[in-house]
Parts: sequence; structure tokens; C-alpha cells
Amino acid sequence: MKPSILQYLAFFLSFSFGGATTAHVPDQDVPASLSKLHLDGHFSFHDVSTVAWDFGNLSSFMPAAVLHPGSVDDIATTVRHVFLKGEHSMLTVAARGQGHSLQGQCQAAGGIVIKMESLPAARMKVCSGASPYVDASGGELWINVLHETFKYGLAPKSWTDYLHLTIGGTLSNAGVSGQTFRHGPQISNVKELEIVTGRGDIVTCSHEQNSDLFHAALGGLGQFGIITRARIALEPAPKMVRWIRVLYSDFTSFTEDQEMLISAARTFDYIEGFVMINRTGILNNWRSSFNPKDPVWASQFETDGTVLFCLEMTKNYNPEEVDNMEQVSSQLAYH
Ligand SMILES: Cc1cc2nc3c(=O)[nH]c(=O)nc-3n(C[C@H](O)[C@H](O)[C@H](O)COP(=O)(O)OP(=O)(O)OC[C@H]3O[C@@H](n4cnc5c(N)ncnc54)[C@H](O)[C@@H]3O)c2cc1C
Repeated sequence: MKPSILQYLAFFLSFSFGGATTAHVPDQDVPASLSKLHLDGHFSFHDVSTVAWDFGNLSSFMPAAVLHPGSVDDIATTVRHVFLKGEHSMLTVAARGQGHSLQGQCQAAGGIVIKMESLPAARMKVCSGASPYVDASGGELWINVLHETFKYGLAPKSWTDYLHLTIGGTLSNAGVSGQTFRHGPQISNVKELEIVTGRGDIVTCSHEQNSDLFHAALGGLGQFGIITRARIALEPAPKMVRWIRVLYSDFTSFTEDQEMLISAARTFDYIEGFVMINRTGILNNWRSSFNPKDPVWASQFETDGTVLFCLEMTKNYNPEEVDNMEQVSSQLAYH
């Protein structure tokens, strides 16, 4: 029988992840019972403080053990072991990608942290064709996905700005960047997942197969299972890119322009807006398409401490269009 979404939720929450508010006291027999499991990888019970932190630096929870999985089976075996301890067990499990979460989400107080980067990377496989995709491990970094797919002239459709994040880590959230207005976040560009469920089963899911699990795990904050493989949609990688940044001192003009650009039929391929504070020298290093000889530049942007707004856009193009590009990007920006 296909488990319902509520069953998945109940199973996973019953030994859910360490958070900023709970600090369980570990069972004394945890290391002994975990040591008996037959694994391709291994557990470490000492030096576990290396995973008792995250980027946010707000929470620090010491786990009882760190799993360095040598295979997906290792993750399934471990989760099944925890599941079989029953719903009253306080043992928690957390998958850890690059630890770039902010509030302890990738930590497990007195529990087990699974270091996803230990999963063998040999699983990355690119399929070119009419509807290209890459299969990659949940612990794989997006930067490695880019390097591998580039070999085939392909690239994922939707990105994060920073690429040293893991597939499982961003797909548990959303994964947003300047392509989101066009393709949706990264979680909208996944064809299939392999997941270790809260029972320790290895389940393949997609829009068509086990779709409740698929939709729950994408953006599910790691609460519906551990993503061990993802099939990511690809598109032809751009050959050349025109990069444009425009600085604003006025918030209303900035947001109006951004809204106009993302809703236009003919527009850029990447659009992102951000806020920055002008500090001494920041504009001297500003590699911008904005004309520094323009007198508006000095009067509006020079003051130290001023809050500035920036629109960043890119337009993809082919080498034969290079002469035309200046004109095309001006038309897009000023239509
Ligand atoms: C410098 C920096 C830049 C960033 N830039 C962007 C950006 O441009 N766009 C954007 O959208 N976000 C961005 N983020 C946020 C980032 O996407 C999230 O913090 C993401 O969770 C980090 O991925 P990670 O691999 O470090 O995951 P972790 O922090 O290790 O884990 C995050 C959560 O995902 C769970 N998890 C990890 N792996 C798996 C898995 N395989 N299966 C199931 N659950 C799992 C963890 O248990 C935890 O709950 C940025 C963060 C930082 C610190």
C-alpha cells in the first residue's frame, strides 16, 4: 500500500531533526547499537563537534554520532534502525549538506548527523537529448553539477547565486536566483527524486510516481525524507553572456523597473535585485555597465553610508550576435 503524506510526516517528525529549541540527552547505548550495523561507510563517535555548528552561528548541538555513508543503503539502514526504536525514542537524525543553514536545521542534538558529501559522487550522470537532465547525489555541490553538465554543453535551468551548496540542501528549501522569475525556483525543475523515507525505505518519486512524497520533500525542510539522488532538468548552456548592473538611489524606481523587466515578454535571462550600503571605495571597484562619467553618478551615489539598490541582469547570446549585443541590451533595458 502506498503510504499517505500524513504517514510520511508522522514517521519523520517522530524522530525529526535537531532544532534550536530542543537538546535531547543521548541514549547511553546509541554508539554501541550503531556500531553493530553493517555499513559500506562508517560512524564516527569522536570529533563530532565538527558538525555541531552551521553558517548562522546561532545554535550549536552536539550529536552522538556522525554517519559517513558509503552508500544509500547505509542511510536506509541507519534510518530504519532509528525507526525501529519506536516513536518514544528521542534519537534524532539530520542530513547535513554544507551546513549553510542558519538555525541549526542540519544539526541533531544527541542524535545522528548524516554527512551527505560522503556519498560517492560517481553517481553523477548526464542524459542529453530532447529533454536533458542530470542525475546527481543529494550530497553533490551545485558547482560540480555545473562543471559536469558543461562538458555536454548543458546547464541546470535554475540556480542559487552561491554554488557551494548541496542539491539536497537547496531542494529542501527552494533554491532561488535570477532565473526564478522565468523557470521557477530549483524545486520546480526536478524530474525525479530518490528518497530514504522515515521508515528507512528507498523510494523513487516524481510527478507521476509517489507524487505526494515528491511534492512534500521538495521544499520540505528535510522533514519528509533524505534526498539521496535528484534528476535535475537541464537546458543548453549559454555560449556568451552580457552582464549588466544598474545602480539606483531611489527604491520606487528600482522596484518599478524590476517589476517591469520580469513581466515583459521580451526580456533578460537573469534578473535579480539587491540592496547594498555604500562604503568607502565600494563604487571604485564597481564593475558596472553604468557610465561613471555621467554627472548623476557623483551626486547620487558617492555619499558614504548611503543605501543603494542594484538591478543585475544578464542576456545570453551566441558569438555571431556579438556586434548586435550593445543595441539589444539597451533596447531591453529601455523599452
Ligand atoms: C553564503 C550563502 C549563500 C546562499 N545563497 C543562496 C542563494 O543564492 N539562493 C538560495 O535559494 N539560497 C541561498 N542560501 C541558502 C541555502 O540555499 C540554504 O541555507 C541551504 O539549505 C544550504 O544548503 P546546504 O547544502 O548547506 O544545506 P544544510 O545547511 O546542510 O542543510 C539545510 C537543510 O536541508 C536539510 N538537508 C540537507 N541535505 C539534505 C538531503 N540530502 N535530503 C534532505 N534534507 C537535507 C538539512 O537537514 C537542513 O534541514 C545561501 C546560504 C549561504 C550561507
